[in-house]
Amino acid sequence: MADSLDPILPGATIGVLGSGQLGRMLALSARALGYRVHVYSPDADSPAGQVADREIVASYDDLDRVRAFARDVDVVTFEFENVPSATSHAAAEVARVRPDGDVLHVTQNRLREKTFLRDRAFPVTPFRRVASRADLAEAARDLGPFAVLKTAAFGYDGKGQQKLGPGSDLDAAFDALKGAEAIYEAFVDFVKEVSVVAARGVHGEFAAFPVFENAHSHHILDVTFAPAAIPADLAAEASSLAHGILDALEVVGLLTVEMFVTRYGRLVVNELAPRTHNSGHLTIDACVTSQFEQHVRAVCGLPLGATTQRSPAAMANLLGDVWIEAGGVPRWTDALSDPRLKLHLYGKAEARPGRKMGHLNATDATVEEAVARVRRGRDRARGS
Ligand code: AMP
Repeated sequence: MADSLDPILPGATIGVLGSGQLGRMLALSARALGYRVHVYSPDADSPAGQVADREIVASYDDLDRVRAFARDVDVVTFEFENVPSATSHAAAEVARVRPDGDVLHVTQNRLREKTFLRDRAFPVTPFRRVASRADLAEAARDLGPFAVLKTAAFGYDGKGQQKLGPGSDLDAAFDALKGAEAIYEAFVDFVKEVSVVAARGVHGEFAAFPVFENAHSHHILDVTFAPAAIPADLAAEASSLAHGILDALEVVGLLTVEMFVTRYGRLVVNELAPRTHNSGHLTIDACVTSQFEQHVRAVCGLPLGATTQRSPAAMANLLGDVWIEAGGVPRWTDALSDPRLKLHLYGKAEARPGRKMGHLNATDATVEEAVARVRRGRDRARGS
């Protein structure tokens, strides 16, 4: 379907493919703006479905259901990028899809994504495609033994990744791929990880949030704070890299650029996520416009909102482990005894280790104080 650039005004219906917490917070923002929201995923009583006007429970492969879903809405968007290409194409036959399927296609696969970036001179670590034992041996010879071997498709939160070094058994590493296509990435000696969440509108207008600094634990995002503790010129460079990437991909909507800051103060792009991002959750309580509202504005062709941060802020993820450590229900009253803490829960029934159940946000006079607050609040929720 031809993509009309006319604004999709409040009162219209936004269709969301995917129904996790990103979809939930997107739906809440969309409703605040007066939109209706339909979500589509294989899961019932999903985080997004609970707060949407309609929850369609069907397989992404059921293309007739996908078309019927798309016909009922004014624009289709995504809350996670691993929706099959055939699904977004089927939706695009009958509705506007933003960002379009090409953006998804590039960002669903680490090899396509890194190749796209490298070919356009964006800074990425040297990498090689690995489809055979010989490829792996050659990559290790060419790029050196310090590397991360990742499956090319469907990876997130460090899943499908192996860290390699001089003593690594390459045969065993290859076997662990179980035949999946992989990417061998030279190890980046980084001092910190940052992300830029940015939006691009239907007319190419651009707005980035301040640079976020991210700390991980067991490969899962643990704490984000903003602004990042990096020099102003590096922050400006990060934002400008994001601008270039969103333009190159002709994104309409939000896209997150995850980057490493190397020991030598250089930026290296690690990964793109064509959507709202866990590191952007603090925008809900810290910025004039949240990342979720911004995505709605962008995909609906409304003017983008101000990304100005009102005060230093931090976010701590609440994983299922908090429930387990608390022996059932976390001690919310203890956590919220700090009146500056903002609790966001995703409506997930079952708390499993590593499962993202919610997050805590705080703003304060300094980033350090905001970080201390969210960490303290989480400790109290655990009962420690
Ligand atoms: P990813 O799934 O690509 O976001 O990677 C998950 C985590 O693994 C990153 O946040 C880094 O901490 C680490 N990592 C990934 N790729 C590299 C690399 N090329 N060099 C060093 N560390 C990496």
